[in-house]
Amino acid sequence: MVFDILTIFPDFFGSPLQEGIIRRALEDGKIQVGIHNIRDYALARHRMTDDRPIGGGEGMVMKPEPLAECLRAVIEGEQNRRVILLSPKGNRFTQQSAQRLATVPRLVFICGRYEGVDERFRDKYVDEELSIGDYVLTGGELAALVVMDAISRLLPGVLGCEDSAVNDSFSCGMLKHAQYTRPRIFEGTPVPEVLLSGDHAAIARYRFIETVKVTLERRPEMLLDVRFTPAELKLLKKEGLFGRIETVVKEYKAEPIHAG
Ligand code: SAM
Repeated sequence: MVFDILTIFPDFFGSPLQEGIIRRALEDGKIQVGIHNIRDYALARHRMTDDRPIGGGEGMVMKPEPLAECLRAVIEGEQNRRVILLSPKGNRFTQQSAQRLATVPRLVFICGRYEGVDERFRDKYVDEELSIGDYVLTGGELAALVVMDAISRLLPGVLGCEDSAVNDSFSCGMLKHAQYTRPRIFEGTPVPEVLLSGDHAAIARYRFIETVKVTLERRPEMLLDVRFTPAELKLLKKEGLFGRIETVVKEYKAEPIHAG
């Protein structure tokens, strides 16, 4: 997988790419990352990449020509790629987006700054706009790193244990159960007995129930889209959780529209 990042702050990416799993993925050639300085493509005397908004208003807007020049130089007629603009106005980036984008051979991230990029650049060159959440960052660089990180760990061979990504929160449509390590007793609290039993089927059942419980407590709306197997439904009924899930489904589906 090749990631290209267009930015006016190329130094931003130094340390995040030199740590942990991402560093190893780069060293092993599982991912390649090209950092491209948009300023190198600015023709104006002072290598300006931004200008005042036409029509007035606060801040500055990223000029379309350096962005377009830089992008053209990077993709050079490459067809198998997707150009992504990081933007608070984009579609929300989720684990499902990460899974979808992990199948694209080349992703090009455009990092905005100031008031964002000229709309004409977006209309002509951008395949999709992604937001990493409902808040406003100072620039798209952090967002590009978040998206790249989430996608990279889904690529074959990037994680030491492939199962880690399959069983992650969101991958199964629910939040992941709690995890424990040694010591067996920490400040008077023991780890749950079943985890020490060596009974793999009992551990799997316990973890499934814990997965449902944590999702019910923290993100109940996620359960609307989960399809349980008959065996799971039987277990949920036995544990008294089926009724709670039914209540959640009824509450969310019957949500009336309130007037202001
Ligand atoms: N004035 C813009 C608005 O209200 O939509 C916000 C511009 S923001 C200060 C500058 C840049 O940061 C954006 O162009 C975008 O690239 C990036 N950015 C900010 N928040 C983001 C978010 N939640 N997700 C992705 N990128 C974001």
